[in-house]
Amino acid sequence: MFQGDAHAVFVSSFPGQGVVNEAFFLALPKVELHCHLLGTIQRGTLTDWVRREGLAVGADEIEAFYTRGDKPVGVLKVLRLLEQQLLRSPDDLHRMTVEYLAAASAHNIRHAEFFWNPTGTARDAGIGYREGLQAILRGMADAELDHGISSLLIPAIDREAGARAALEMVEWVTAFPHEKVAGIGLDYRETEHPPELFAPAYALARAAGLKTTAHAGEFGCPWQHVQTALDLLQVDRLDHGYTLLQNPALARRVADSGIIVTVVPTNSYYLRTLPPERWAAEHPIRFMPAAGVRVHPNTDDPTLHLVNGTQAWQKMHTDFGFDAQAIGQFMHHGIDGAWVGADTRRRWHLEFEAERQAALALCTNTLPPATPA
Ligand SMILES: [Zn+2]
Repeated sequence: MFQGDAHAVFVSSFPGQGVVNEAFFLALPKVELHCHLLGTIQRGTLTDWVRREGLAVGADEIEAFYTRGDKPVGVLKVLRLLEQQLLRSPDDLHRMTVEYLAAASAHNIRHAEFFWNPTGTARDAGIGYREGLQAILRGMADAELDHGISSLLIPAIDREAGARAALEMVEWVTAFPHEKVAGIGLDYRETEHPPELFAPAYALARAAGLKTTAHAGEFGCPWQHVQTALDLLQVDRLDHGYTLLQNPALARRVADSGIIVTVVPTNSYYLRTLPPERWAAEHPIRFMPAAGVRVHPNTDDPTLHLVNGTQAWQKMHTDFGFDAQAIGQFMHHGIDGAWVGADTRRRWHLEFEAERQAALALCTNTLPPATPA
């Protein structure tokens, strides 16, 4: 994907609007609604911490962490390594937060709502919720000051830790409320950990006035998981949701509800399971907007997926064929899905749209047609 002949990859055209290049996707103002803090670990930071902890993780293995495609090491394994052996102090969380938000801001992400799993941080790294929270909040404030990026934190249930740990995590969140902690999420391996297990945790979160979102319909998991997330967890937003397409009535319902579905063009499951030559043509993201689903592209685990905030959006065009109008809609979906006040949302719709138009005018018809690779 983003390897090889950069010119051939980055330059393509919007039908009727001439040539558009990477500069457009970079200039497009964006919000990010689906990114996991540990999945933003910079290679240099990880290398520093491996050295600091004296771990027997060689350069080859680190190289494998940052290799995509025929991936020798799964992303979840790297996330667990971080929780269990590398994160040692609240300052580590602060560093990751600052580095993530600085990198996001460099790709013109203006506002980020990102996940953090307090359960693993407490259980494995020995950093309690309050300490961890304060360090991350400090990082968010520093990044806003230095880069102008606003952000909200989404403590996420580690579904592999089970229902009891989920309830405990929500109790932590409600015990230490903060305006920058807008809601909760649900992530890690969905297979064998269906959403219904977490209904009590979601009920507690809703009762405390928290917003909710959940990973559902990832890893080829049944469409029923999406339905359960809507009916039982009563989510305000949905993450992935790809298998909803397998049930036309559910797809219609999701479309009619107007709920924002965060999607990940670099999602590992489809990279693994679809043949490379048919990956882009058969990927469910290609078909969700046609079903009326309001999607919004995201980086998920950017450094481990070898993708940045610009490329996640550009892939919607180069790989899945969405035109300028659709890209504009996705941009507005992000604003509608953000857990910010109505005034902020209204202002962003106007400001982002003006900037999108300016970026389009600047970036189209200014380059020669792409030369064949
Ligand atoms: Zn995710």
